[in-house]
Amino acid sequence: MKHDHVFFASLVTFVLVAPSREAEENFEDAHRFIFYSVLEGCFEDGLSTEDVSQILLRREKESYFHFIYACPVCLPTIHALEVYRSRPDHFYGVKGGASTFGSGLTPDLKRQLYSGAPADRLVAINSLVQRWTARRMSLLALSDEQRGQLQKAFEEMRKKGMETLKSFKAGGTASYYAPAFATIEECAACNGAVGKGLKVPDPQ
Ligand SMILES: [Zn+2]
Repeated sequence: MKHDHVFFASLVTFVLVAPSREAEENFEDAHRFIFYSVLEGCFEDGLSTEDVSQILLRREKESYFHFIYACPVCLPTIHALEVYRSRPDHFYGVKGGASTFGSGLTPDLKRQLYSGAPADRLVAINSLVQRWTARRMSLLALSDEQRGQLQKAFEEMRKKGMETLKSFKAGGTASYYAPAFATIEECAACNGAVGKGLKVPDPQ
């Protein structure tokens, strides 16, 4: 009888704990950090829904234009942008009906983001992700050790993203899985997360 009880208790524990463990594995700290950085950045900078849709540009039968499919940095970035885009049009009880905090992107960034050249748009996205990640780092007042651990995790994630991009290019599938990267060898979001700019070819 006692054993049955123990068995039942461990079964309950398993059932209750198992899904959240799985969620933790899918969404580890570095993943969440990027998600929150991007979400917070969108609110703090006051991006318009149109701006976010421009970052999340997606042509028919392609994955997200400015991101690398299955890249561990691009994924949480996309998720946060999707969440921000689906926020309500108006916050309850707010006069004027805004549903964001900041005053919007600077004209320079806006011009870059809406440029006809994918490289310009990637540079804009890279500088946004750089700023948003750095902002959250300083907001959380992390210890040197915590900061170092995160930085290391981002470097690892970026490495995976770069390998993914390379394999799409080698396999001839980059036009679907990483459409904006035809002439660009590094990921805009990944470089942003590690505080690195984006090298783009000189305009012809
Ligand atoms: Zn990436």
